[in-house]
Amino acid sequence: MTVQAFGAFAADKPLEAMTIERRTPGAHDVVIDIAYCGVCHSDLHTVRAEWAGTLYPCVPGHEIVGRVSAVGDEVTAFATGDVVGVGCMVDSCQHCAECEAGEEQFCLNGMTPTYNGPTETAPGHTLGGYAQSIVVSDKFVLKIRHREDQLAAVAPLLCAGITTYSPLRHWNVGPGKKVGIVGIGGLGHMGVKIAHALGAHVVAFTTSEEKREDAFRLGADEVINSRVSEEMDAHALSFDFILNTVAASHDLNAYLNLLKRDGTMALVGVPEHPHPAPDIGALVFKRRSLAGSLIGGIRETQEMLDFCAEHDVVADIEMIRADEINTAYDRMQRSDVKYRFVIDNATLAA
Ligand code: NAP
Ligand code: ZN
Repeated sequence: MTVQAFGAFAADKPLEAMTIERRTPGAHDVVIDIAYCGVCHSDLHTVRAEWAGTLYPCVPGHEIVGRVSAVGDEVTAFATGDVVGVGCMVDSCQHCAECEAGEEQFCLNGMTPTYNGPTETAPGHTLGGYAQSIVVSDKFVLKIRHREDQLAAVAPLLCAGITTYSPLRHWNVGPGKKVGIVGIGGLGHMGVKIAHALGAHVVAFTTSEEKREDAFRLGADEVINSRVSEEMDAHALSFDFILNTVAASHDLNAYLNLLKRDGTMALVGVPEHPHPAPDIGALVFKRRSLAGSLIGGIRETQEMLDFCAEHDVVADIEMIRADEINTAYDRMQRSDVKYRFVIDNATLAA
């Protein structure tokens, strides 16, 4: 099946309209007409080859919401017309210990990312959600229970939502916990909303003074401009947990020193250039932990979607046409995003 898409032919080329092939659906496949696709900073890192190993043509997009247009003979959980989502993974081995534990993102045989992952069909790697449709194995399709009018704002939950929900749950964020969210972009603004919905005391850290008022509206109890050292110092030794979503290299010590004894900072941002090495003393003398986290498994992604539907949590989005994607990337690079760009995939029609 031939569909319209938007992608790049090289790291130094802008994204442009292109035609791609989708595989013939198999017995366990779900065919999805994509309505909306969120724009993650990982898309930008990948397209511009800021991470090693980008394969071209590159069609990014892993925050997919759409409607089922066909299902294979063996598919029982989905039917034509269902509103569904697809996140960062479209396959995994399904038999290793990680897959059996529901943590497919850590599949010991390598999960297949929604784009830039290996596949047997041409062009040899997966192509993502900046396209009119996608064919996905039923095990990697999520049910969407939000209202119909919320669907564009639901799309970012498929990556930004689960990538913040999973560590917030893993490190037991909830009532009585003081939690920091660093970087109020796509991931960070979802982190603020979800941590607030989990009942924690939420402190947002931003480098963008103009996001201060928004951060309160998103659910922060306090907001810190991380460029102002007095504001940072006032919170020394007070955090149980900090979730750091920053997409660029920066000094981690400034945040480690805000953790209590035994506190943890989890990194989810994967910057192009490494962070300066953290101060080992900041870890050792307060038994603090510096950790990382990768999206979340399929079971937990469904749990997150249901939690967000129940708590009426969606992203704050700016809808764009597919041909506005290059401008959106430039703005995201400058932290000028409030708070997630979402492509209206209807604008891909030739
Ligand atoms: P984003 O929308 O661009 O947000 C990143 C935010 O970080 C910016 O809005 C900005 O917030 C802050 N920031 C940017 N440059 C900064 C700098 N030099 N110093 C301090 N703060 C800075 O990006 P995103 O889509 O949320 O993604 C964030 C990162 O997470 C990316 O590296 C992405 O690849 C990664 N990611 C990881 C996973 C995972 O599973 N681990 C999943 C998805 C994405 P303020 O304006 O508030 O300062
Ligand atoms: Zn993402």
